[in-house]
Amino acid sequence: MPPAAHALLGASSAERWLACPPSVRLSEKFPDTAGVFAREGTLAHSLAELKVRSYFTVMAKSAYTRAYNKIRKDELFSTEMDNVTDAYLDYIKDCAMQFPAPPTVACEVKVNFSGYVPDGFGTADLVMIGGNTLRVIDFKYGKGVPVEVTDNAQMKLYALGALAQYALLYKVERVILSIAQLRLGEPTEWETTPDELYKWASEYVRPRAQQAYNGEGEFHAGDHCRFCRAKAKCRAYAEANTAVTEQHTPDEDPALLTDEEIGRLLTRAEPFLKWFGAVQTYALDAALDGKTIPGWKAVEGRSVRQFDDIDAAFADLRAAGIEDALLYERKPLTLSGVERLLGKKQFAELCGGHVVKPAGKPTLVPESDSRKPYSRAAADFAAIEQ
Ligand code: SF4
Repeated sequence: MPPAAHALLGASSAERWLACPPSVRLSEKFPDTAGVFAREGTLAHSLAELKVRSYFTVMAKSAYTRAYNKIRKDELFSTEMDNVTDAYLDYIKDCAMQFPAPPTVACEVKVNFSGYVPDGFGTADLVMIGGNTLRVIDFKYGKGVPVEVTDNAQMKLYALGALAQYALLYKVERVILSIAQLRLGEPTEWETTPDELYKWASEYVRPRAQQAYNGEGEFHAGDHCRFCRAKAKCRAYAEANTAVTEQHTPDEDPALLTDEEIGRLLTRAEPFLKWFGAVQTYALDAALDGKTIPGWKAVEGRSVRQFDDIDAAFADLRAAGIEDALLYERKPLTLSGVERLLGKKQFAELCGGHVVKPAGKPTLVPESDSRKPYSRAAADFAAIEQ
């Protein structure tokens, strides 16, 4: 869903408020800065919607061209955006083909799930319904964090809203939820039933939503804290990031960390550093706003000298007899620069034989990383064999 008017208990933040109900009222104490970074996503959503509407509804070609050209003129428009939204339309067409008869297709559907969530509403990117099947599809342009569709609370709330809207007209037995995050790969789908959704909503969502609305419930820190406006000052999140929970077995030296502890610390490092960055940002903003953070202050960072007008400065140097050969460096293009200049084919023909790929510097990554493990001994042995 593109960022737009936000409900207090919005579907897009449901993962967070379901896990940590009091985060909703706590967040109200902090400014909402999410919209600042969302303009590219909003533009991509507009383009995706335009393409889907022009295919599935009656739209004059001139109206489409006008709207398309307006989007193209935006500085955030890119060829990638055009390609990704084309792929999105192809996916929507594929989904529609799977219905035995042409389904009803609706874009930007206002869905209301206030039967379970106080003032709960949202906007589903696309709802497709026909026969006994409801499809709810979410287009995501971001490529930072892959979003999992299985059991996705946002999508399930959209589906509940869509069911409420269409239940009188259709006897839905299958609900298929999709997330099309096409810059990261193929769309992903997850199937459920209306009965499972109603059970989840009544037993799990409704009580937590009421707690969230009332500002009650237990704080619970986790991955969802990344998107919480209170994250820099939240005590529960700080405690989760700084707590020392490791314990030694009796036969280990308590003065030293075990390798298991080192492994667990490294696993915690990434969320810790993100949290710590949020704390630093908060403290800098507070200091710049004139607040006191005991022991800290804001100062001007280091800067390097620069010409206010490099052309004028060089003109003066030339006038004083300094030659261009002394004023300019001649640097070769990088390998990628030469490849961009020539294109892959000509690059390969002309200088492909000179390309080597030295071994990369060893780096520590989580076990889940797909690269082969590397060890000094194995590398030395391979070198001797060669
Ligand atoms: S930072 Fe995490 S634990 Fe704290 S209020 Fe927000 S979601 Fe809850």
